[in-house]
Amino acid sequence: MALIVQKYGGSSVGSVEKIRRIADKIKGYRDRGDDVVVVVSAMGGETDRLQGLADEIGHTYPREMDVLLSTGEQVTISLLSMALRNAGVDARSFTGWQVPIRTDAAHTKARIQEIDAQHLRDELGAGRVVVVAGFQGVDENENITTLGRGGSDTTAVALAAALKADECQIFTDVDGVYTTDPRVVSGARRLEKITFEEMLEMASLGSKVLQIRAVEFAGKYGVPLRVLSTFEDGPGTLITLEEDVEEPIVSGIAFTQDEAQLTVLGVPDRPGIAYSLLGPIGEANIEVDMILQNVSGDSSSDYTLTDFTFTVHRRDYERAKELLEEAATTLGAREVAGNTNIAKVSLVGVGMRSHANVASRMFKALSEENINIRMISTTEIKISIVLEAKYLELAVRALHDAFGLEQAPEEVDSELTPRSEQA
Ligand code: ADP
Ligand code: ASP
Ligand code: MG
Repeated sequence: MALIVQKYGGSSVGSVEKIRRIADKIKGYRDRGDDVVVVVSAMGGETDRLQGLADEIGHTYPREMDVLLSTGEQVTISLLSMALRNAGVDARSFTGWQVPIRTDAAHTKARIQEIDAQHLRDELGAGRVVVVAGFQGVDENENITTLGRGGSDTTAVALAAALKADECQIFTDVDGVYTTDPRVVSGARRLEKITFEEMLEMASLGSKVLQIRAVEFAGKYGVPLRVLSTFEDGPGTLITLEEDVEEPIVSGIAFTQDEAQLTVLGVPDRPGIAYSLLGPIGEANIEVDMILQNVSGDSSSDYTLTDFTFTVHRRDYERAKELLEEAATTLGAREVAGNTNIAKVSLVGVGMRSHANVASRMFKALSEENINIRMISTTEIKISIVLEAKYLELAVRALHDAFGLEQAPEEVDSELTPRSEQA
């Protein structure tokens, strides 16, 4: 007998028919003797619909946004609990505050701080299935909070940690984590497993199959995490702490169109420039991703000018541009330019640690498709590039091919040189 936490995403609970099917599926686990805690998202599209209503109202207020957005999940917990009871499974629903799931007060992006799991344990002890609303919690002043888009994943992992569950299963509309988004590259391959480190990079670089915080949480508390298909049986993908000796060099490709680029042209190149330009952006709580500053030709001259480029989330673009224009005027820079038609593509793999020429192979594949690279940034286990948005899909496909991701790693005839064999 195991204790499992299962999470069903928006598309899995998108209709009454689907909710009934999930109830039958959960009944199967109960009949085998497992204790089950279920976390559900709002019905597919519902959170967007609610967001749209608020946008129509005009100026929104964070506290009220959370009261609004949290209603979607309240609908699904009740419907699923009723469907379970109709299927002969005793079940009870809980909103975030009823558990309670305590969070900080950062409305629309709150972080879970503490879960009192006693209620849930009592319900499980009484033989019931517990159905918990994902994506929501309550702050210390009893205000409803939400955890950011995709936050039901994090609710599930946090409950699994609090209950010391045997496994946290994320059921969704794909049957696992793929080498890249299977909706974009038809040859994408399901991974048997992926390390937490890689999954964290994939999630933070744009693969929305798991919310970043869910992966962080699972890594921190050692929660066994698996991504599976709601309506097809299969092993899914296990997110694991273990690294294989023979890790593939590139495990996956993540991408996003959520960023925008800002460039200050003709800034006097002297100490403190980066701080003068980015200080106000940081103070406005705008996160800066990639940064690029040219080395100017002659740094001995007082009059050398340089260019300074960085990227921010697209929703912060307008505000960042205003702040940058102010700073640029103060510094006497020539011009501020912006571009929202960009995309970021990233190769992720712990195997990159031990292989050197991944970047050159990446650049070769892109040059063969005539794709211009605008910015590059690297860490030990990822390489990201910024390119023009219209080349995004072409780039992802070309890189998927170039690194042989369609085949399982042992079939790939690697042209890459292990670092140990380098001079
Ligand atoms: P849910 O509503 O169940 O939370 P999401 O839409 O948030 O589902 O996440 C599942 C989607 O993530 C898939 O439909 C797929 O298009 C997308 N996705 C992006 N990258 C990947 C990847 N590497 N592997 C699997 N799915 C991915
Ligand atoms: N319903 C929320 C959203 O659409 C939370 C979730 O689905 O995880 O983002
Ligand atoms: Mg999701």
